[in-house]
Amino acid sequence: KPIVAIVGRPNVGKSQLFNRLAGKRLSIVEDTPGITRDRLYADSEWRGRPFQVVDTGGIEPSTDNEILKFMRMQAEIAINAADVIVLMTDLHSGITATDEDVATMLRRSRKPVVLAVNKCDRPGKEPPEFYEFYNLGLGEPYAISALHGYGTGDLLDACYEYFPEEEGNEEDSEYIKVAVIGKPNVGKSSLINQILGEQRVIVSNIAGTTRDSVDSRFENEKGKYLLIDTAGIRKRSRVDEKVEKFSVMRSLMAIERSDVCVIMIDATEGVTEQDTKVAGEAHDAGKACIIVVNKWDLVEKDGKTMDQYTRRVREGLAYMPYAPVLFLSAMTGQRVPKLFDTINAVYEQNGRRIPTGQLNSLLAEATARVQPPTDKGRRLKIYYMTQSGVRPPTFVCFCNDARLFHFSYQRYLENQIREVYGLDGTPIRMIIRERG
Ligand code: GDP
Repeated sequence: KPIVAIVGRPNVGKSQLFNRLAGKRLSIVEDTPGITRDRLYADSEWRGRPFQVVDTGGIEPSTDNEILKFMRMQAEIAINAADVIVLMTDLHSGITATDEDVATMLRRSRKPVVLAVNKCDRPGKEPPEFYEFYNLGLGEPYAISALHGYGTGDLLDACYEYFPEEEGNEEDSEYIKVAVIGKPNVGKSSLINQILGEQRVIVSNIAGTTRDSVDSRFENEKGKYLLIDTAGIRKRSRVDEKVEKFSVMRSLMAIERSDVCVIMIDATEGVTEQDTKVAGEAHDAGKACIIVVNKWDLVEKDGKTMDQYTRRVREGLAYMPYAPVLFLSAMTGQRVPKLFDTINAVYEQNGRRIPTGQLNSLLAEATARVQPPTDKGRRLKIYYMTQSGVRPPTFVCFCNDARLFHFSYQRYLENQIREVYGLDGTPIRMIIRERG
């Protein structure tokens, strides 16, 4: 799916535009129990083409003299991850020095950029100041009002022109996209270096696509893989709280683009709050997940150590009991080859399809074994269940009353499905629909 990123100074109206473009904001996510996240990404559609819109402005600088620095980071993220960048400016404040600086950066990146001038609240009656925006050198400015929705259709048409050919992604789909995520110093770079150092790296040489320069493609005897955003991981960033927040955003974007998330935990520290958060993002995004306990070489072990660790990791990441746990050492390379078998396995499960007939026999047995909940004499009736999608496996249940379909009963059905079909390493989504 093409990615459209919105970049702009604080208060130009990025979130408003995001909400407009995001049209239908993933209702599926709202139905999913788990950790709620501020969605940075939303799925949308224009002229029948699905695309994703990303708001890179989630983190705003607090003081004026930081704005430029932050705008540059924002733009850098957008350049790395997006297919089309919308630079958003503000009619009322005119062109600022920051706008000029970022426009130059974007021009140099050679990424497609669409210039939006927000707060043009009288459609078709642009004031003379509007025409100054041609001076940014980004082509025709689009007059919009994110607040009222004026002009956003033309803006999307302009973005649409830059969407890559649909067939163009075929090569990419041969590769399993893997995001290595985890807190600083957990060993992400070490793992990636271990992997890329040992394998023959096939560096993509498609010129001019910045996105490829941060992703590393390679092939080994287990398959073809694409490691996402390895530049971001390998670059040492300073220990600055705000930069740290950007690295969080970067990892969110990596999760979003991945098929499989390798969640790294430091064996010497156990599961921390930050680990819980970042793993929760992968879970909520419906990605296949593997928990990797790294630095296993540093742990003094006896016969029970692995079991004890597994239990503790399971407690810390209780919402993903489905994820395999792997103990390895990125430094020595111990058990790193095994990681690829696991990646292949969870990737496959994340794309599993279960025939409707089988699901409904399972449903009949499950509801006979444990009666669905009742409330004030009314009992939940589940008529029918079908799988509506993959990555992750998504099941739609039609019932008489959605309010009776308690989380605990959803969880029960999920467990029943897993008991029969496994689906190791992948979250499952349940969508509850009422039918008369
Ligand atoms: P990143 O910030 O997640 O990319 O972490 P790094 O890969 O830079 O690793 C942080 C530190 O942990 C470095 O000093 C590594 O040498 C060390 N480290 C990473 N993996 C292992 C491991 O498996 N065993 C040991 N002993 N040290 C490791």
